[in-house]
Amino acid sequence: GHNFEAYELKEWVNWCDACGSVILSLFRKCVSCSKCKMVCHEKCATTVSLTCEADQHVRSLTLNDPNALNRYKTIVQETKDETTLKEFNTIHRVLSTEEIQERIENFNQTVKGSQQMTLQDNGETFRGFIRVSMNLMRPVSVHDSTKTSRKPTRKASFYIDKGALKALHLTSDTTSELVVQALLNKYSISDNPMKFALFEKQVREEGHVILRKMLPRERPLFLRLLWGNGNSDKRGFILQENESRDIHWESFSVAELLMFIKILDKEENDYIAEIKRKYKNKETDIRNAISHQSKRS
Ligand SMILES: [Zn+2]
Ligand SMILES: [Zn+2]
Repeated sequence: GHNFEAYELKEWVNWCDACGSVILSLFRKCVSCSKCKMVCHEKCATTVSLTCEADQHVRSLTLNDPNALNRYKTIVQETKDETTLKEFNTIHRVLSTEEIQERIENFNQTVKGSQQMTLQDNGETFRGFIRVSMNLMRPVSVHDSTKTSRKPTRKASFYIDKGALKALHLTSDTTSELVVQALLNKYSISDNPMKFALFEKQVREEGHVILRKMLPRERPLFLRLLWGNGNSDKRGFILQENESRDIHWESFSVAELLMFIKILDKEENDYIAEIKRKYKNKETDIRNAISHQSKRS
Protein backbone atom coordinates (compact mmCIF):
# COMPACT_ATOMS: atom_id res chain seq x y z
CA GLY A 1 0.00 0.00 0.00
CA HIS A 2 0.87 3.69 0.08
CA ASN A 3 3.31 5.13 2.57
CA PHE A 4 1.90 8.57 3.42
CA GLU A 5 4.23 11.04 5.09
CA ALA A 6 3.97 14.72 6.01
CA TYR A 7 4.87 16.73 2.94
CA GLU A 8 5.57 20.40 2.36
CA LEU A 9 4.03 21.73 -0.85
CA LYS A 10 6.04 23.91 -3.21
CA GLU A 11 3.15 26.36 -3.31
CA TRP A 12 0.29 27.11 -0.95
CA VAL A 13 -2.32 26.02 -3.50
CA ASN A 14 -2.38 22.48 -4.85
CA TRP A 15 -4.74 19.66 -5.78
CA CYS A 16 -5.71 16.61 -3.78
CA ASP A 17 -5.26 13.41 -5.81
CA ALA A 18 -7.80 11.61 -3.62
CA CYS A 19 -10.83 13.93 -3.49
CA GLY A 20 -9.93 16.13 -6.48
CA SER A 21 -10.51 19.41 -4.65
CA VAL A 22 -8.11 22.19 -3.75
CA ILE A 23 -5.49 21.96 -1.02
CA LEU A 24 -5.06 25.40 0.55
CA SER A 25 -2.42 25.85 3.23
CA LEU A 26 -0.21 28.84 4.00
CA PHE A 27 1.98 26.39 5.91
CA ARG A 28 1.97 24.22 2.76
CA LYS A 29 1.03 21.14 4.74
CA CYS A 30 -0.40 17.93 3.34
CA VAL A 31 0.68 14.30 2.97
CA SER A 32 2.39 12.51 0.10
CA CYS A 33 3.19 8.87 -0.60
CA SER A 34 6.97 8.48 -0.45
CA LYS A 35 6.78 5.74 -3.08
CA CYS A 36 4.40 7.00 -5.79
CA LYS A 37 4.38 10.78 -5.05
CA MET A 38 0.57 10.94 -4.75
CA VAL A 39 -0.37 14.13 -2.89
CA CYS A 40 -3.52 14.56 -0.79
CA HIS A 41 -5.23 16.13 2.22
CA GLU A 42 -4.28 14.45 5.49
CA LYS A 43 -7.94 13.50 6.04
CA CYS A 44 -8.22 12.03 2.52
CA ALA A 45 -5.18 9.73 2.89
CA THR A 46 -7.31 7.33 4.96
CA THR A 47 -9.90 7.01 2.19
CA VAL A 48 -7.46 6.17 -0.63
CA SER A 49 -8.33 2.77 -2.08
CA LEU A 50 -6.05 2.95 -5.11
CA THR A 51 -3.13 0.55 -4.91
CA CYS A 52 0.25 2.21 -4.81
CA GLU A 53 1.86 2.59 -8.23
CA ALA A 54 5.23 1.61 -6.79
CA ASP A 55 3.77 -1.77 -5.70
CA GLN A 56 2.64 -2.71 -9.17
CA HIS A 57 5.29 -4.79 -10.84
CA VAL A 58 4.26 -4.00 -14.41
CA ARG A 59 4.17 -0.32 -13.67
CA SER A 60 7.61 -0.27 -12.08
CA LEU A 61 9.02 -1.98 -15.16
CA THR A 62 7.74 0.80 -17.41
CA LEU A 63 9.07 3.38 -14.94
CA ASN A 64 12.55 1.89 -15.22
CA ASP A 65 12.48 2.07 -18.99
CA PRO A 66 15.00 4.53 -20.34
CA ASN A 67 12.65 7.45 -20.91
CA ALA A 68 13.84 9.96 -23.50
CA LEU A 69 13.23 12.87 -21.13
CA ASN A 70 15.37 11.36 -18.37
CA ARG A 71 18.48 11.60 -20.50
CA TYR A 72 18.27 15.37 -20.30
CA LYS A 73 18.47 17.95 -17.59
CA THR A 74 14.93 19.32 -17.39
CA ILE A 75 14.12 22.88 -16.42
CA VAL A 76 10.52 24.00 -15.89
CA GLN A 77 9.71 27.58 -16.81
CA GLU A 78 6.56 29.60 -16.53
CA THR A 79 5.53 32.35 -18.92
CA LYS A 80 4.49 35.33 -16.84
CA ASP A 81 3.01 37.34 -19.68
CA GLU A 82 2.85 37.13 -23.44
CA THR A 83 5.40 39.88 -24.22
CA THR A 84 8.22 37.44 -23.37
CA LEU A 85 7.04 35.11 -26.15
CA LYS A 86 8.29 37.48 -28.88
CA GLU A 87 8.14 35.82 -32.34
CA PHE A 88 6.38 32.78 -30.83
CA ASN A 89 3.53 34.89 -29.49
CA THR A 90 0.41 33.10 -30.73
CA ILE A 91 -2.04 35.20 -28.72
CA HIS A 92 -1.93 38.45 -30.67
CA ARG A 93 0.44 37.81 -33.53
CA VAL A 94 -1.31 38.00 -36.92
CA LEU A 95 0.11 36.65 -40.18
CA SER A 96 -1.07 37.66 -43.64
CA THR A 97 -2.80 35.02 -45.80
CA GLU A 98 0.35 34.84 -47.98
CA GLU A 99 2.60 34.29 -44.95
CA ILE A 100 0.32 31.56 -43.61
CA GLN A 101 0.15 29.87 -47.03
CA GLU A 102 3.92 29.90 -47.40
CA ARG A 103 4.50 28.56 -43.88
CA ILE A 104 1.89 25.82 -44.35
CA GLU A 105 3.52 24.76 -47.64
CA ASN A 106 6.93 24.56 -45.96
CA PHE A 107 5.49 22.74 -42.97
CA ASN A 108 3.60 20.20 -45.11
CA GLN A 109 6.82 19.20 -46.87
CA THR A 110 8.14 17.93 -43.53
CA VAL A 111 5.19 15.68 -42.59
CA LYS A 112 3.06 12.87 -44.03
CA GLY A 113 -0.34 13.52 -45.62
CA SER A 114 -2.49 12.86 -42.56
CA GLN A 115 -0.35 15.23 -40.47
CA GLN A 116 -0.59 18.14 -42.90
CA MET A 117 -2.21 21.49 -42.20
CA THR A 118 -4.95 22.94 -44.41
CA LEU A 119 -5.91 26.58 -44.78
CA GLN A 120 -9.64 27.31 -44.43
CA ASP A 121 -11.65 29.38 -46.92
CA ASN A 122 -11.40 32.54 -44.79
CA GLY A 123 -7.63 32.63 -45.47
CA GLU A 124 -6.87 33.01 -41.74
CA THR A 125 -7.80 29.85 -39.90
CA PHE A 126 -6.11 26.53 -40.56
CA ARG A 127 -6.65 22.97 -39.41
CA GLY A 128 -4.19 20.31 -38.40
CA PHE A 129 -2.92 17.96 -35.72
CA ILE A 130 -0.78 18.20 -32.65
CA ARG A 131 0.51 15.33 -30.56
CA VAL A 132 0.66 15.72 -26.81
CA SER A 133 2.88 13.56 -24.64
CA MET A 134 1.26 12.70 -21.29
CA ASN A 135 3.69 13.19 -18.42
CA LEU A 136 1.57 13.07 -15.27
CA MET A 137 3.36 12.24 -12.03
CA ARG A 138 0.21 11.81 -9.97
CA PRO A 139 -2.95 9.70 -10.40
CA VAL A 140 -6.14 11.08 -11.94
CA SER A 141 -9.82 10.50 -11.17
CA VAL A 142 -11.96 9.12 -13.96
CA HIS A 143 -15.67 8.66 -14.50
CA ASP A 144 -16.37 4.98 -14.85
CA SER A 145 -19.63 4.98 -16.80
CA THR A 146 -19.90 1.26 -17.61
CA LYS A 147 -23.47 -0.05 -17.84
CA THR A 148 -22.86 -2.71 -15.20
CA SER A 149 -22.22 -0.23 -12.39
CA ARG A 150 -25.32 0.62 -10.37
CA LYS A 151 -24.60 4.32 -10.11
CA PRO A 152 -24.48 6.17 -13.46
CA THR A 153 -20.99 7.52 -12.82
CA ARG A 154 -18.56 6.07 -10.33
CA LYS A 155 -15.20 7.63 -9.57
CA ALA A 156 -12.01 5.62 -9.87
CA SER A 157 -8.38 6.67 -9.80
CA PHE A 158 -5.67 5.50 -12.11
CA TYR A 159 -2.30 6.39 -13.55
CA ILE A 160 -1.77 7.44 -17.13
CA ASP A 161 1.33 5.90 -18.66
CA LYS A 162 4.10 8.44 -18.85
CA GLY A 163 5.00 9.17 -22.45
CA ALA A 164 1.60 8.09 -23.84
CA LEU A 165 0.89 10.17 -26.94
CA LYS A 166 -2.51 11.66 -27.79
CA ALA A 167 -3.17 13.15 -31.21
CA LEU A 168 -5.63 16.03 -31.36
CA HIS A 169 -7.32 17.47 -34.41
CA LEU A 170 -7.75 21.21 -33.92
CA THR A 171 -7.82 24.61 -35.58
CA SER A 172 -5.39 27.50 -35.29
CA ASP A 173 -7.92 29.21 -32.98
CA THR A 174 -7.96 26.42 -30.39
CA THR A 175 -6.35 27.64 -27.16
CA SER A 176 -4.07 25.63 -24.88
CA GLU A 177 -6.81 25.84 -22.25
CA LEU A 178 -9.18 24.01 -24.63
CA VAL A 179 -6.48 21.47 -25.50
CA VAL A 180 -6.13 20.57 -21.81
CA GLN A 181 -9.91 20.13 -21.56
CA ALA A 182 -10.01 18.00 -24.73
CA LEU A 183 -7.26 15.71 -23.40
CA LEU A 184 -9.10 15.27 -20.09
CA ASN A 185 -12.27 14.40 -22.03
CA LYS A 186 -10.40 11.79 -24.09
CA TYR A 187 -9.38 10.01 -20.89
CA SER A 188 -12.73 10.74 -19.10
CA ILE A 189 -10.73 12.50 -16.39
CA SER A 190 -13.02 14.26 -13.93
CA ASP A 191 -10.34 16.21 -12.04
CA ASN A 192 -10.42 19.99 -12.09
CA PRO A 193 -8.75 21.13 -15.36
CA MET A 194 -6.74 23.65 -13.36
CA LYS A 195 -4.76 20.75 -11.90
CA PHE A 196 -3.09 20.43 -15.32
CA ALA A 197 -1.30 22.64 -17.82
CA LEU A 198 0.06 22.35 -21.33
CA PHE A 199 3.82 22.74 -21.64
CA GLU A 200 6.00 23.48 -24.64
CA LYS A 201 9.02 21.19 -24.73
CA GLN A 202 12.21 22.67 -26.15
CA VAL A 203 15.27 20.44 -26.47
CA ARG A 204 18.46 22.51 -26.34
CA GLU A 205 21.79 21.49 -27.82
CA GLU A 206 23.55 21.27 -24.44
CA GLY A 207 21.38 18.30 -23.40
CA HIS A 208 18.86 20.51 -21.63
CA VAL A 209 15.10 20.29 -21.93
CA ILE A 210 13.04 23.34 -21.16
CA LEU A 211 9.41 22.75 -20.27
CA ARG A 212 7.63 26.06 -20.64
CA LYS A 213 4.19 26.30 -19.13
CA MET A 214 1.97 27.85 -21.78
CA LEU A 215 -0.49 30.64 -21.08
CA PRO A 216 -4.18 29.57 -21.26
CA ARG A 217 -4.81 31.68 -24.37
CA GLU A 218 -1.81 30.57 -26.44
CA ARG A 219 -2.71 28.63 -29.59
CA PRO A 220 -0.84 25.32 -29.95
CA LEU A 221 -1.46 24.64 -33.66
CA PHE A 222 -0.34 28.16 -34.54
CA LEU A 223 2.74 27.58 -32.39
CA ARG A 224 3.44 24.34 -34.26
CA LEU A 225 3.31 26.27 -37.53
CA LEU A 226 5.77 28.84 -36.13
CA TRP A 227 8.15 26.04 -35.10
CA GLY A 228 8.31 25.17 -38.81
CA ASN A 229 9.62 21.64 -39.16
CA GLY A 230 6.83 19.20 -38.24
CA ASN A 231 9.23 16.30 -38.03
CA SER A 232 11.68 17.68 -35.49
CA ASP A 233 11.70 16.17 -32.01
CA LYS A 234 13.32 19.33 -30.66
CA ARG A 235 9.89 20.80 -29.95
CA GLY A 236 6.73 19.21 -28.62
CA PHE A 237 3.72 19.47 -26.33
CA ILE A 238 3.48 17.89 -22.89
CA LEU A 239 0.58 17.66 -20.45
CA GLN A 240 1.74 17.86 -16.86
CA GLU A 241 0.54 18.86 -13.42
CA ASN A 242 0.17 22.57 -12.92
CA GLU A 243 2.17 23.38 -9.81
CA SER A 244 2.02 27.10 -9.64
CA ARG A 245 1.29 30.07 -7.46
CA ASP A 246 -0.38 31.58 -10.49
CA ILE A 247 -3.95 30.40 -9.85
CA HIS A 248 -6.75 31.77 -12.00
CA TRP A 249 -9.23 32.64 -9.27
CA GLU A 250 -11.77 33.87 -11.84
CA SER A 251 -12.33 30.26 -12.90
CA PHE A 252 -13.90 29.39 -9.53
CA SER A 253 -17.49 30.12 -8.53
CA VAL A 254 -18.25 32.55 -5.70
CA ALA A 255 -19.47 29.61 -3.58
CA GLU A 256 -16.12 27.85 -4.07
CA LEU A 257 -14.17 31.01 -3.23
CA LEU A 258 -16.19 31.50 -0.04
CA MET A 259 -15.40 27.88 0.85
CA PHE A 260 -11.68 28.62 0.35
CA ILE A 261 -11.90 31.50 2.84
CA LYS A 262 -13.47 29.09 5.34
CA ILE A 263 -10.65 26.56 4.81
CA LEU A 264 -8.02 29.26 5.40
CA ASP A 265 -9.90 30.56 8.47
CA LYS A 266 -9.88 27.08 9.93
CA GLU A 267 -6.14 26.68 9.36
CA GLU A 268 -5.51 30.12 10.89
CA ASN A 269 -7.57 29.29 13.99
CA ASP A 270 -5.95 25.87 14.39
CA TYR A 271 -2.47 27.42 14.28
CA ILE A 272 -3.37 30.22 16.70
CA ALA A 273 -4.72 27.62 19.13
CA GLU A 274 -1.59 25.48 18.75
CA ILE A 275 0.76 28.43 19.35
CA LYS A 276 -1.23 29.56 22.41
CA ARG A 277 -1.10 26.01 23.77
CA LYS A 278 2.70 25.86 23.35
CA TYR A 279 3.28 29.17 25.16
CA LYS A 280 0.78 28.23 27.86
CA ASN A 281 2.63 24.95 28.53
CA LYS A 282 5.98 26.72 28.96
CA GLU A 283 4.42 29.35 31.17
CA THR A 284 2.89 26.63 33.36
CA ASP A 285 6.34 24.99 33.74
CA ILE A 286 7.89 28.28 34.86
CA ARG A 287 5.01 29.10 37.21
CA ASN A 288 5.44 25.66 38.81
CA ALA A 289 9.14 26.45 39.36
CA ILE A 290 8.20 29.78 40.96
CA SER A 291 5.76 28.15 43.36
CA HIS A 292 8.40 25.52 44.32
CA GLN A 293 10.93 28.27 45.11
CA SER A 294 8.48 30.34 47.14
CA LYS A 295 7.54 27.23 49.17
CA ARG A 296 11.24 26.59 49.95
CA SER A 297 12.05 30.14 51.04
ZN1 LIG B 1 1.85 5.24 -3.15
ZN1 LIG C 1 -8.72 15.61 -0.45
